[in-house]
Amino acid sequence: ANHSKGNSKGSFELPEIKFTKHFINGQFVDSISGKTFETRDPRNGEVIAHIAEGHKEDIDLAVKAAREAFDHGKWPRMSGYERGRIMSKFADLIEEHIEELAALDGVDGGKLFTIGKIMDIPGCIHMLRYYAGAADKIHGETLKIAGEYQGHTLKEPIGVAGIIIPWNFPSTLFFVKVSPALAAGCTMVVKPAEQTPLSALFYAHLAKQAGIPDGVINVVNGFGSEAGAALASHMDVDKIAFTGSPEVGRLIMKASAESNLKTVSLELGGKSPLIIFDDADVDMAVNLARMAIFFNKGEICVAGSRVYVQEGIYDEFVKKAAEAAKSWVVGDPFDPTVQQGPQVDKKQFERVLKYIEHGKTEGATLLTGGKPYGETGYYIEPTIFTDVKENMLIAQDEIFGPVMSLMKFKTVEEAIERANCTRYGLAAGIVTKDLNIANWVARSVRAGTIWINCYFAFDPDCPFGGYKMSGFGRDQGLHAIEKYLQVKSVITPLINSPW
Ligand code: ADP
Repeated sequence: ANHSKGNSKGSFELPEIKFTKHFINGQFVDSISGKTFETRDPRNGEVIAHIAEGHKEDIDLAVKAAREAFDHGKWPRMSGYERGRIMSKFADLIEEHIEELAALDGVDGGKLFTIGKIMDIPGCIHMLRYYAGAADKIHGETLKIAGEYQGHTLKEPIGVAGIIIPWNFPSTLFFVKVSPALAAGCTMVVKPAEQTPLSALFYAHLAKQAGIPDGVINVVNGFGSEAGAALASHMDVDKIAFTGSPEVGRLIMKASAESNLKTVSLELGGKSPLIIFDDADVDMAVNLARMAIFFNKGEICVAGSRVYVQEGIYDEFVKKAAEAAKSWVVGDPFDPTVQQGPQVDKKQFERVLKYIEHGKTEGATLLTGGKPYGETGYYIEPTIFTDVKENMLIAQDEIFGPVMSLMKFKTVEEAIERANCTRYGLAAGIVTKDLNIANWVARSVRAGTIWINCYFAFDPDCPFGGYKMSGFGRDQGLHAIEKYLQVKSVITPLINSPW
């Protein structure tokens, strides 16, 4: 392959792995069974740590601690202002460890160290501070009730939240869920992804240092079918906030239905369209499209995996996109010149390659890439297919890898119809200078986030979530706090009790 290679192996000294156990009731503890599992470095497949493997009995202990902290502890009862102050302290402590945390996600998940340092971890700090500021602004309404009554609503924390997150953004997704839950006054049990447990344990340690009471944040490691399933079906958990695959999303709803009907919110996959119109600056559009699919090695639920280009600029776009993919730098995530690290593990690596083979046999044209990159580790070349049709698997399934499907369209109506031709609805991008087209398309595409002339612009204040099979409920923004709250109506007679 003629992809440029990063010019060094990365000189950053890998952080010491300090935390490998569960964090339950303020203590790091082994599994009751004594079992552990391996977490591996995707650059070479080598084992980096043995992590306590949680099962039902460990989840039971963690839920018990969270229940106790909720039913009798200080956290739900202290003022929002006080909770906010402790959350701010937590954010300050993270700020002192940015490099170490970015390195943990780098070695555990193959994520770019530099991006972790300037985006992921600072984004977590921002998220915590945003919700720290919101913690004392949660309030109910006054109700005008017919007859001689008045009423008000109380917003109360929902209780014990179960938080199940995937491996592609181990830090970001931890805080996307934990921050609003903390602000609301919930206690929680977090089940990080088995591929990337390291940073969550570090956060649990910092939470304790910041003064978050024992039992408020518990972290239990382990596999989805064991620890995750036990959390989702637990009778004493009041809510599950999940990010992951639609298949597991279904299992979580089923577990809720078959246990205590806990509320569920799901942030699932995507197959997001990026629609580029004739009036776009082609160089800018190519750059944006490249970033939209190859960023984080395509392991991002909002990846712009279907790129629709209008016919007038299509040929030029295809030519430039191929060049752009070839100059995208693949290599060691600790090398600052690298733009794409390895896929998270062997399973994902093989899965992506299988989709690439599928694309070829389905009749799409492989424009560039399509193979593993290098001899060791789980690297894949930035890959682009042209001549893709909506009914092909590569245009329908979330590949979760660096694979772009390029398609040509004629009219705005056609672009909208084809953009919506998927079971997902997480995000979409539009590139045009025409305000009318931008607004029309933004309103017509059924997706939770629309980026116009940009992509991946995120902020804690932007609600984030899906339409259709991309899930329901919104993370981020003030909306997200509602997921961790209950509304209670309190009614009193205005004068004397009529009873
Ligand atoms: P991905 O495809 O991104 O790995 P998954 O949906 O498989 O996403 O996993 C996301 C999270 O859900 C992980 O923490 C995983 O361990 C957990 N998980 C997997 N299976 C289950 C299950 N049956 N019940 C609860 N959680 C699960």
